Amino acid sequence: MSGGGDDIRGKTIGIIGGGPGGSATAIRLVRLSRDRHLGLRVVLFEGKDFERHYNQCVGVLSPPIEEILRGGLGVELPYEIFKRQIYGYRLHAGGKEILLVGPHRSGATYAVRRVMFDRFLLSSAEREGVEVYRDRVTGIDFPDGDRKRIFLYTEGGSLKADAVVGAFGLDDGMVDIFETATRGKYHRPARFIQTYVTKIPAEVSFIERKLGSIIYAYLFPPGIPNLEFGAITPKGDHIIVNVAGADATVEDMFAFLSTDVVRDHLPPFSIDEQEIYRGKFPGAPARGAVGEGYLTVGDATGWLRPFKGKGINMAIETGILAAESMAQRGLSAASFRRYEEVTRPLREDYAYGTWMRNLCKAGDVMGMLGTVLSMAKVDQGMHDALFNAVSGHDSFKNIFRRYARPSVLAGVIRNFANDRRRRA
Ligand SMILES: Cc1cc2nc3c(=O)[nH]c(=O)nc-3n(C[C@H](O)[C@H](O)[C@H](O)COP(=O)(O)OP(=O)(O)OC[C@H]3O[C@@H](n4cnc5c(N)ncnc54)[C@H](O)[C@@H]3O)c2cc1C
Repeated sequence: MSGGGDDIRGKTIGIIGGGPGGSATAIRLVRLSRDRHLGLRVVLFEGKDFERHYNQCVGVLSPPIEEILRGGLGVELPYEIFKRQIYGYRLHAGGKEILLVGPHRSGATYAVRRVMFDRFLLSSAEREGVEVYRDRVTGIDFPDGDRKRIFLYTEGGSLKADAVVGAFGLDDGMVDIFETATRGKYHRPARFIQTYVTKIPAEVSFIERKLGSIIYAYLFPPGIPNLEFGAITPKGDHIIVNVAGADATVEDMFAFLSTDVVRDHLPPFSIDEQEIYRGKFPGAPARGAVGEGYLTVGDATGWLRPFKGKGINMAIETGILAAESMAQRGLSAASFRRYEEVTRPLREDYAYGTWMRNLCKAGDVMGMLGTVLSMAKVDQGMHDALFNAVSGHDSFKNIFRRYARPSVLAGVIRNFANDRRRRA
């Protein structure tokens, strides 16, 4: 243990939120505390009862999730939570479609029940020795004057902590409280992507016949300008349909559900009777994700990469890195800066993801996306680039570096011009 971390001995860390980000931080902290005899008290508050409430999600766990859980948290996923292994994606864009199937070396993709996953991780934290309270945090007072500790107020009591981890996702109420308590140093992500989700019961035989173990993904579904993305995901005994877009509304969800291509993959159902769930993804990084006495992990950081999904992985990875920075370096501002340093690749990939999103938008407007899909059918490199982008198997940065060479871009432009000549 380096001297820099000595100031954490015997300290109390309060964690707000028991989703994947909060649970991962807590588990890693108590494990490090045990290994290094730090005597930490780790207290986690989760406002939801995962027997009845849930966090919005499609429930796709992407690689290397098993490696992260095993290596970072010493946790093995229980067999019961798996509903299906996903083998590929059928991507639709620009009036074309392509089946993307990737190599298995980077690990498997699973469809799970999200609520079971959250329940499992939170109970793993409890088993490890985290003090878990099913309680909502309602206020925070950061130190002022002689008072050195942070006061966390909840619906059932209060806690005096030496540091706070904000793992509250995009919960509007908690974000308000945190912004006020940090006097605006923390500021929520400047943009959000709206999402709508619905769950459609289906016979297993129907799912096998129509979808198999493939996710159907639609980039910029035609005729629904607010949507950037729509997807149909097979689970065990139901199918999840979700849509996303910065300005998406529930009407866009209905329009997506009404299109022939979507209907063709779903059993008969009445749109009016469907329960629709609304949520959001962060669309830009939060400001002040790290500050005096606090750091944030997961969705609260806003570091989720556009188009990428994999929010669960990001939440767990940032949680593990936050715990390691605290255990190794203590609770000082320098330690928290270390957390910012080690998470820099995530923020860098955010910029590449924004590029990718804008490129796809421009490509859709110009009609070039269809050309890219056609080329990917005969060009393994382009196929792999699309697979890695859609599945989240690789970072956008690596995809750009490996595949966005001038010769590839020239090929796209040449084929696009040929396509247009043929259509004219
Ligand atoms: C529609 C939709 C589908 C998605 N599908 C996928 C997917 O298939 N795969 C994937 O990897 N990611 C997916 N994501 C993203 C993923 O859900 C998030 O990125 C991930 O859950 C972030 O984890 P977190 O721990 O940061 O936040 P959350 O999972 O949001 O957890 C935050 C927790 O904090 C608690 N909390 C908030 N305020 C308080 C308070 N005041 N007191 C106590 N507790 C509080 C909440 O109850 C919640 O449990 C999806 C997101 C959406 C919106």
